[in-house]
Amino acid sequence: MAATDPVEEASYTSKAVYIETYGCQMNSSDTEVVLAILRKHGYSRTTVPAEAGLILLNTCAIRDRAEQKICGVDLVAGPDAYRDLPRLMAVLQQRQASDAASREGVMNVHLSAEETYADITPVRPVGEKSALVSVMRGCNNMCAFCIVPFTRGRERSRPLNSILNEVRMLSDQGFKEVTLLGQNVNSYADASQGEPAAAPGPAPGRSNPDAFSAYAQGFRSVYVPRRGGSVQFAELLDGVAGVNPEMRVRFTSPHPKDFSDDVLEVIAARPNVCKQLHMPAQSGSTSVLERMKRGYDRPSYDALVAHVRQKLPQVALSTDMIMGFCGETEAEHQCTLDLLERTAYEQAFLFAYSQRDRTTAARHLQDDVAPEVKDRRLAEAIQVFRRAQRRGTQAEIGALHLVLVEGVSRRHIGNAAVLNTAV
Ligand code: SF4
Repeated sequence: MAATDPVEEASYTSKAVYIETYGCQMNSSDTEVVLAILRKHGYSRTTVPAEAGLILLNTCAIRDRAEQKICGVDLVAGPDAYRDLPRLMAVLQQRQASDAASREGVMNVHLSAEETYADITPVRPVGEKSALVSVMRGCNNMCAFCIVPFTRGRERSRPLNSILNEVRMLSDQGFKEVTLLGQNVNSYADASQGEPAAAPGPAPGRSNPDAFSAYAQGFRSVYVPRRGGSVQFAELLDGVAGVNPEMRVRFTSPHPKDFSDDVLEVIAARPNVCKQLHMPAQSGSTSVLERMKRGYDRPSYDALVAHVRQKLPQVALSTDMIMGFCGETEAEHQCTLDLLERTAYEQAFLFAYSQRDRTTAARHLQDDVAPEVKDRRLAEAIQVFRRAQRRGTQAEIGALHLVLVEGVSRRHIGNAAVLNTAV
């Protein structure tokens, strides 16, 4: 989160804030938290930059270039420092008042082991029917290519009570869909003290609602999860889905290891939990997965996909995939193409590998796949993904689905407006 430079001195008295948000849903959710914090300090949101006394950019630091760009601005607040924004702004104003020529900025990027913003009610866009609900923050997984554990810190989960209260409020306000958000959302584990609120009863068909959420078969992690006695993701999902059976429930972004049977059983048993799962594979090659420190091999991933499809026959799957990771050979790349072909994802986020400072890969591996090779492999992956996706789409011809109409799309086909819908 960074404040931009061109705020005129006179406009510091303006209490209008303009926030531009880049990146994923976590960033959109963080913007809503920031607005709530600033509102308590008298700020209101404007959508017109020229009216703003304060202009903030909320951007992600996954890619190095974004981080380098924001570090030249007046104020930088990390994801656990939003409560500190009013103080940071006051420090900046004092500094600039005493020395108008000062270009010295202020920064707080300290990470917290506890911050979940559980007591903050996010300020959501007017007219929305779908709400993001943050349930946990941070990640403990330490995948070799990823900067997230360094920029968003360790995993911590928001108490079940506060999540259920927020979802009840959203239901009362007429929201039609909630998306539970977390960097590693299905690692959710609420170990907060005190009795959790009575969640709605377990969904019919769950075999063992009290079971510890073990990892999916064949999956492991570099860290030892301390989840004993905690409320875990299956319980959370079940509780949220039980608030209002007419309100859709989604969640993102999960890790495949945490698709344990009790999570899958809740998804199967609760009609309002959308049968759409993100299962980031990152690569189809066991040897690349080992270098990436993902905690699973290709056969385990394939077995999980088969298991999920057996438990949830109508499920739509999506994935993330990285092309050209350190040392990736043509044979390893072919494994990824094979995975894309066989799994026939409904959606895929495909990237050419770009090295990030401070990660395990940057410290211990060589980014040795030539850029043109990465680009060519990415193009091949896109082609294979699209071909396989088309098969799935054609199989849907004639099928009937209940859809949520979210609004008019910004995209148009000819003279016809396209409605944004979610199946
Ligand atoms: S699980 Fe996701 S967020 Fe966590 S380190 Fe791996 S890629 Fe990054």
